[in-house]
Amino acid sequence: MKICPNCGFEYEDSIEYCSDCGAELILKEESEKLEEKYKNWIEVFSTPQLYEAEMVKTNLETAGIESVILEQKDTSFPLGGELGEIKVLVPEYREEEARMIIEKIGNQKEDYSEDNE
Ligand SMILES: [Zn+2]
Repeated sequence: MKICPNCGFEYEDSIEYCSDCGAELILKEESEKLEEKYKNWIEVFSTPQLYEAEMVKTNLETAGIESVILEQKDTSFPLGGELGEIKVLVPEYREEEARMIIEKIGNQKEDYSEDNE
C-alpha cells in the first residue's frame, strides 16, 4: 500500500504518483515510521520560504538542537491553492530553547530586511 504525503490518499503499490496532486507516493509503512519518529516533535516555525526554514534549521543545529524540515508532509495542513507551508520541527523537550533562538533570528532579520522586497 502506498500513500500520498500531501493528501494522505492511499494507492495500490503499482502506482507512483498521486492522481490528485501529482506528488510522488511513499510506502505506507514509511509514512508510519516517519510519523512514529516525529510523534513527539513540535512545530516551532513555519514559512512558505524554504531558505527561511533552512536558515532556522542551521541556527538550531549550531546551537546543538536537532531539527527537521517538513515540506507539506502534514496531511492536516490545508493547501488552499497557495505555496505550501514549510515547517521546522524540533523534539518536544527542546521546544523552549528553539523558540528563543528563532525569536533572536527574527529580531536580527528586521534590522536589515525592511526594504528588501
Ligand atoms: Zn496527493
